[in-house]
Amino acid sequence: MTHPMIEVLHLPVSHIEALREAAAAAYPDECCGLLVGEGAAALTVTEVIPVLNVAETPERAFAIDPQKQFDVLRATRGTDRRVIGHYHSHPNGHAIPSARDLAMAHDPAAVWVVVGITAGGVSEMRAFVCPAGAPAFVEVPIDAG
Ligand SMILES: [Zn+2]
Repeated sequence: MTHPMIEVLHLPVSHIEALREAAAAAYPDECCGLLVGEGAAALTVTEVIPVLNVAETPERAFAIDPQKQFDVLRATRGTDRRVIGHYHSHPNGHAIPSARDLAMAHDPAAVWVVVGITAGGVSEMRAFVCPAGAPAFVEVPIDAG
């Protein structure tokens, strides 16, 4: 199975707001969750699903609750909805994937949305993919459509 290069991520304002709220609610820990959507080169997020961060050190890492991930994958199987990726927050304010994130980037089709937040609030939100064979993340423009 090949994956088309993702050119843009359509992220409706209501979902941007949900991501901002999730990051603020979890601060100073990282939040995380799944993104359900549709499309190929142009992806559209249709649903934001918050998931418990089960990392041992949630203030500097995230781990999506595997049971919840399994439940969502099962619920979307055979439908036109699918998990297109996930999101998490960085309480250091920088929406740049970390070395730890890169080590976890095994799925070339997964979109990563990273929310930078500080005590003052959300500072930035960026999207990335890590194409197969690529040594680094590639940024995908977010269109707040
Ligand atoms: Zn991260």
